Amino acid sequence: MDAKPTIVVNIVTPDGSVYENSTSLVVCKTTVGEIGIMPNHIPTLAALAIDRVRVQTTEEKFDEIAVSGGFMEFSDNTLSIVASSAEKREDIDTNRAQRAKERAEKRIEEAKQTHNVDELRRAEVSLRRAINRISISNK
Ligand code: ATP
Repeated sequence: MDAKPTIVVNIVTPDGSVYENSTSLVVCKTTVGEIGIMPNHIPTLAALAIDRVRVQTTEEKFDEIAVSGGFMEFSDNTLSIVASSAEKREDIDTNRAQRAKERAEKRIEEAKQTHNVDELRRAEVSLRRAINRISISNK
């Protein structure tokens, strides 16, 4: 009998490879919604949201990786994710993310008061990154 097909998953950032595995299911959030990738899925290219990537390891378990946006590309049963930053759940420093959240909230308040639209947008993205890390590490 032929072995069941699997997907090879690679998550890379400018600092190098963060995660590599093979699996039969990956679930990630694109900017237009959630997508589940199984072996032999059609070739796909999509922008990723600041969210989690879930990689099934056993029937009921998933590895979770926080990604701060980026792109996913799937073809020939290889899923490549290129993200500006990514952390495996167990590598997330929750206290650091909490401090980043507080800093971002403060920046948002200041940007609102000074009507600084660019700074407001940057601070909101920082806040989303921090909340994403906190929510993944707290699971
Ligand atoms: P901070 O203000 O705490 O640096 P940030 O959102 O500005 O947070 P990034 O620019 O997204 O940080 O990431 C810089 C580097 O630090 C990346 O390698 C990223 O993986 C890592 N990193 C950021 N926050 C955390 C965290 N809470 N736990 C573990 N690694 C983190």
